[in-house]
Amino acid sequence: MTHSAKVDLHAHSNCSDGSLTPAELVQRAATAGVDMLALTDHDTVAGLDEAQSAGGLAGVRIVPGVEISASWRSQAIHVLGLWIDPASARLQSALGSQAERRRVRMRKICAALSDLGLPGAALLAAVEAQPGLPTRSHLAAALVAGGHVGRTDHAFRKYLGAGAAAHIAAQWPALAEVVAWIRDAGGIASLAHPARYALSAGGRRQLLADFVAAGGGALEVVTGGNGAQHSEACAMLAMKFGLLGSVGSDFHDPQFTWNPLGRLAKLPDCVIPVWRSHA
Ligand code: AMP
Ligand code: MN
Ligand code: MN
Ligand code: MN
Repeated sequence: MTHSAKVDLHAHSNCSDGSLTPAELVQRAATAGVDMLALTDHDTVAGLDEAQSAGGLAGVRIVPGVEISASWRSQAIHVLGLWIDPASARLQSALGSQAERRRVRMRKICAALSDLGLPGAALLAAVEAQPGLPTRSHLAAALVAGGHVGRTDHAFRKYLGAGAAAHIAAQWPALAEVVAWIRDAGGIASLAHPARYALSAGGRRQLLADFVAAGGGALEVVTGGNGAQHSEACAMLAMKFGLLGSVGSDFHDPQFTWNPLGRLAKLPDCVIPVWRSHA
């Protein structure tokens, strides 16, 4: 695995809020020329076996991954676990609790939608009919399908996003706890899409300091949709905090043409690739 190999360490399947099955995702990665792909579904490892088998057939190296929801100073933070052992008993039990938190929150959000005059029970049923662990993306899609909003981003703005009418703050476990699960499962914890959190520059540095203190090992320096300027700034942060650099599209759906699988800027040379020891 050379520095110029095509690597994408952040992608979703329909085991969470992606639209493709794990096998379809891997096939798409192969077509896009990806050499190494991490399947990182939200709070579940359910797709990893299928992805590994498909990767063996398609010639794509599959990194067993997960994207775990955590909280830090009452913000939701996403931590990628890369090269995890999905059979880890502690991780499995932790992900079981995460799944339950997701189901409880989804019921609460749908109850809040009912209070707003929307058909909460039918929306909940639509989300629960999906194969994946429930996320707000599924609910946004159900709101679009029911004609309640025109587009998923409107669903977030009007109902589901922070400060919106049916927003329910999730009770995610602390960042340090999530990092500990990942390390316990033999994985490397990588902080996902660092620019996406509503934080000041100082807040972001504090987040990174706490992440490192908890045992975090990498930063997603190159993320889907972000430009070279963003990558350079994140590379500086990775160097400052002694973190390895990760690259990931956060691919969800081929219809999101602005965020394709495996088409990512190069990791700046000043950062050590998180996959180097797995070459
Ligand atoms: P959850 O983990 O249930 O809170 O759902 C979060 C998921 O919703 C993210 O992983 C994104 O895929 C999606 N999402 C969050 N905010 C937006 C938004 N404004 N527009 C579209 N999708 C979003
Ligand atoms: Mn998502
Ligand atoms: Mn995320
Ligand atoms: Mn993601």
